[in-house]
Amino acid sequence: MQRLTGIGVSPGVVSGRAVILIQRAHVLRYQITAARLGHELDRLEESRARARRQLVDIRARVARRRGPEMAALFDAQLLMLDDPMLVPRAAHIVREQRVNAEWAVQQVFHEFCAVFDEVADPYLRERTGDVADLVGRLNMNLRQGASTPRDLLRELEEASVLIADELTPSLAAQVDWTKVRGFATDAGSRTYHTAILARSLEVPAVVGLHDASRRIAPGQLVVIDGEGSEVILEPTDEVLARAARHADDRRPSVAVDHERRRPATTADGVRIRLDANIEFPDDLAAARYAGAEGIGLYRSEFLLPGAGGDVPGEDEQYEIYRGMVEGMAPGPVTVRTFDVDEHQLASRSGEPLGGGWAADQERGSRRGLRGLRLSLTRPELFQAQVRALMRAARHGPLRIMFPFVSGVEQLREARRMLAEAAADLARRGEPVPSVPVGVMIEIPAAVYTADFLAREVDFFTIGTNDLIQYCLAVDRADERVSRLYEPLHPAILRMIVMVRRAAVRRRIPVSLCGEMASDPALLTLLVGLGLTEFSMTPGAIPVAKQVLAEFRSDELRALARRVLRLPTIDEIERELTAAVGRLSLTSGGRG
Ligand code: PEP
Ligand code: MG
Repeated sequence: MQRLTGIGVSPGVVSGRAVILIQRAHVLRYQITAARLGHELDRLEESRARARRQLVDIRARVARRRGPEMAALFDAQLLMLDDPMLVPRAAHIVREQRVNAEWAVQQVFHEFCAVFDEVADPYLRERTGDVADLVGRLNMNLRQGASTPRDLLRELEEASVLIADELTPSLAAQVDWTKVRGFATDAGSRTYHTAILARSLEVPAVVGLHDASRRIAPGQLVVIDGEGSEVILEPTDEVLARAARHADDRRPSVAVDHERRRPATTADGVRIRLDANIEFPDDLAAARYAGAEGIGLYRSEFLLPGAGGDVPGEDEQYEIYRGMVEGMAPGPVTVRTFDVDEHQLASRSGEPLGGGWAADQERGSRRGLRGLRLSLTRPELFQAQVRALMRAARHGPLRIMFPFVSGVEQLREARRMLAEAAADLARRGEPVPSVPVGVMIEIPAAVYTADFLAREVDFFTIGTNDLIQYCLAVDRADERVSRLYEPLHPAILRMIVMVRRAAVRRRIPVSLCGEMASDPALLTLLVGLGLTEFSMTPGAIPVAKQVLAEFRSDELRALARRVLRLPTIDEIERELTAAVGRLSLTSGGRG
């Protein structure tokens, strides 16, 4: 038995198999379930196959533009792609350690670097650059697959404990806390976020462990003792029995349940609406449990099948939407029409792509025919979806939201198609309810035309995830620039103000559903900017409620006014931290 001592920030004792999450390295490490092993190995193979197609394509283009000598530079990478020490070695690590493919690829990279470092040969040293490039490409391709950290965190085995280098609120919000029993982090003292997070989730937590994420192996059985401020490795039967007794004592209390359902308000009583973002109809239970008032964003594209399956037809979709509306009643459900690009739609529904699909085309397509734009080119698909939505709206409050709108003409075209769908229903003799229609404001062009858009819709939802990347010209998936992805950039804050103003002038509701709302500190600033409706991952809602209750709206407005005068992210961050810290001191007891 071995004990790692840290700082207990939330009481309780639990045991579980460790899931390791390393965020700082930008590569997350998870233990994967036995059932997932084959899928993980397929992902790795698929990423290699993609890399080969991309490299062949790049080589051909370079050869055309720069001649064969330059093109030959890519031969080395193509050869490495077949090297048994790269992908097969990574596959071996996936199998042996039962870890995710991204982590295995990264491990292989470190092994290569260690070897190259030992050899003083300059030619070999140069090859490190090639390996790094290739590893970056493989990881980029792995990200293109369906698995995101969110998916992986969803697929955890029951009775896990999370061991992380640090746990940001946005990542914590993606964890399925019905499976994860407790957490421990290397970082942190009794920091504000982590401490309230753990207490509001009612999971035992120990922080400030320095190197637990390196010392604990994925899948290892550990005990987290929030009271004793320690993590116990290789626990004895006696320690495990104590953890089991604690688990039996943890019955959900009526008071906490009541607290969860309480609507959010600021300290001076301003109502703040908190809805949930969900991806699967099954998430409804988590949304209700977290105390969401409604569903502010249902990402309906998750209904689309995996490769080769059939897109669900109108009747099937109707049943799903109806189930959601009834399940969330009396809270409204906002369904966003499919937000996929051409490539995702093709790979999901088995449509042929046609022609080679090069890396830059793939990346570019996220800015191309996507969201509403794509729906407008697939009238049958789009109209089946909106017919299903209008039928479901007969059973409770439902709103239709269009993603990725860049101008009024697309909105008008979509509304025309909506009217046609309504006419179809009327011809069939079915009643047609009037359904509120809104747009996501997530492209800078939509921000600058928000006043025009506001005249033609019933509501706005600000999608900061996309807005930040398109406004700041930063691809979040590209690690070289992802540092520049910054919600606190003055341009983003000004855009939010503009959109809110346009909505208020036309008296239409405006909410914000990007990840930034899940960060308690950013949430307080957004309230200061005048927003009163948010939609976030269900896990973030209880924390958001607690935080909002500690701030007065006038103080938040004053904070926002100061922030809006600051020209740099650093200054804004300092101002925000100072305000959050000061207020937390006056309200006391934040740990
Ligand atoms: C957004 O862009 O902010 C958003 C909520 O939508 P998604 O993350 O699904 O693109
Ligand atoms: Mg978006």
